[in-house]
Amino acid sequence: MNTPAASPHAACRYAVLGNPVAHSRSPLIHAAFAEQTGQRLQYERLLAPLDGFAATVQAFAASGGLGCNVTVPFKFEAFSLCPRHTPRAALAQAANTLRFDDEGWLADNTDGVGLMADIQVAAGVPLRGQRVLLVGAGGAAAGVLGPLLEAQPAEVVVANRTLTKAESLVARHAALAQGLGVPLRTSGLASTGKGFDVVLNASASSLGGGELPVPASVLRGGTLAVDLMYGAAAEPFLAWARSHDAVARDGLGMLVEQAAESFALWRGVRPATAPVVRMLREQLAAAKP
Ligand code: NDP
Repeated sequence: MNTPAASPHAACRYAVLGNPVAHSRSPLIHAAFAEQTGQRLQYERLLAPLDGFAATVQAFAASGGLGCNVTVPFKFEAFSLCPRHTPRAALAQAANTLRFDDEGWLADNTDGVGLMADIQVAAGVPLRGQRVLLVGAGGAAAGVLGPLLEAQPAEVVVANRTLTKAESLVARHAALAQGLGVPLRTSGLASTGKGFDVVLNASASSLGGGELPVPASVLRGGTLAVDLMYGAAAEPFLAWARSHDAVARDGLGMLVEQAAESFALWRGVRPATAPVVRMLREQLAAAKP
């Protein structure tokens, strides 16, 4: 494995790769973690061309990068680039965290544990026994489904615009769901069923500024409605949820939790998340018009 600090003077280099990537707060978060834990770390944003993800990661690793985060739309490609996978990445077949180990790159997926920590620990909402709707079947939903099933909800419905993608995601998790005794099924966006306890928007609809992907009947008074997006892009979903008496939550807490898990994989130390979430909330509030 690459040793975390080859020289006491050289900063260890990491990056987030995506397209788009300009919105990513990951550099700020990892800078705060580094300061908190007393590590010298440099973390940058890298816009990868849609047809040039592998070349961008390889160039970053060749220039001394030790690992990277991966965001839309490259999480599946990131997984397939790596010969070694953590069990949670293998289940998701998608990766948001790579570590460039000498014995072969390691792919991990910290999205699901990040979201579970935000909901169950930070927000204090246990998912056990809850009816949950997961909207989306892309890289983020793939990372979330395993840890979500492990929280033992009463039911999970995976709804996606392209039904076949939801079907293959559910098929990959069928044995886990069965073993845990959690009913797991797919649906189209318009026919999910009604009145869920928890609705998770893991689609990229907010990022693209698109229509809300599901009808309001998925909500009931008190539903916890989480958009994995954060900042201005999440506002339409959050406003929609509040207008139907749901409890709205954005993806900022998840973002910090999944980053802390990545940082721990890279650096061997787990930073505290609450002060970093507070810092980001203050920055977002200050940036509001
Ligand atoms: P992907 O590109 O891998 O997947 C996108 C998903 O969104 C697919 O299921 C796609 O459906 C669906 N989708 C896209 N546009 C629409 C639309 N207009 N209406 C309905 N469905 C749509 O992206 P990711 O899964 O990686 O990311 C999804 C979102 O989650 C992004 O907003 C991302 O920023 C956020 N995210 C936040 C994290 C956090 O820490 N807070 C962590 C990870 C992701 P189809 O299959 O039909 O194309």
